[in-house]
Amino acid sequence: SEEMLIKSEKLSIVGQLAAGVAHEIRNPLTSLKGFVQLLQMKGNEFNHYYEIMLSELDRINFIVSEFLVIAKPQAVLFQPKDVKEVLNSTIALLNSQALLNNVEISSSMEDNLPPIHCDENQIKQVCINILNNSIDAMPGGGEIHVEALRQSEHEIAIIFKDFGVGIPEERLPRLGEPFYTTKEKGTGLGLMVSYRIIENHHGTMEIQSKINQGTTVKMILPVSKGSSPPLQ
Ligand code: ADP
Repeated sequence: SEEMLIKSEKLSIVGQLAAGVAHEIRNPLTSLKGFVQLLQMKGNEFNHYYEIMLSELDRINFIVSEFLVIAKPQAVLFQPKDVKEVLNSTIALLNSQALLNNVEISSSMEDNLPPIHCDENQIKQVCINILNNSIDAMPGGGEIHVEALRQSEHEIAIIFKDFGVGIPEERLPRLGEPFYTTKEKGTGLGLMVSYRIIENHHGTMEIQSKINQGTTVKMILPVSKGSSPPLQ
């Protein structure tokens, strides 16, 4: 059957450990926050520092929460899915956020693409991460182009292209490193998770970028077995 419920044991052990650690960090954080708030209420010349401490504590809490979401062992459901549908629903999901940032998402997708073998939610999560990064990379607005095409007999390519700030060449190798971020409110977890998901799908993801010109993310995913009509 095409439907397979896969639970990766290796991931779930690491995940459980990470979730456990994340959970243990939260309790002392809550208590720290309480005491800092108490000091702040007393009010003295250190008030400005208390504010910084509180916002840094909130940041640790946010990162830990993100981590809990990622680390939570999940059952993954691989199914044949139509690339166009997956992409269009993801784009629809992000459209209002794009509009708010003056960004237009356009797309061109080949007809009659064979379905990809994937966990729809995970692939959507990857696309959302990539699109969010592209929106962030164009603070003055602009265009993002999404393309889907037949890469080879057994592969589909999904390409995201933005015309944003780009990434300096020497930083490209750091993409996907946990906590590597250049954003004030970033976590540096999006690409790490994305790479991991694509790996689990036996696909690849490649990022090319030129500073001040833009960034292209090319993802290659295997076609669902038994549903791959020959190339014309
Ligand atoms: P976050 O978005 O939380 O920073 P990511 O792992 O998604 O975490 O991205 C890591 C970093 O990679 C970003 O902070 C940014 O510097 C860089 N980056 C990713 N995508 C793009 C892009 N399309 N344009 C410019 N920089 C990008």
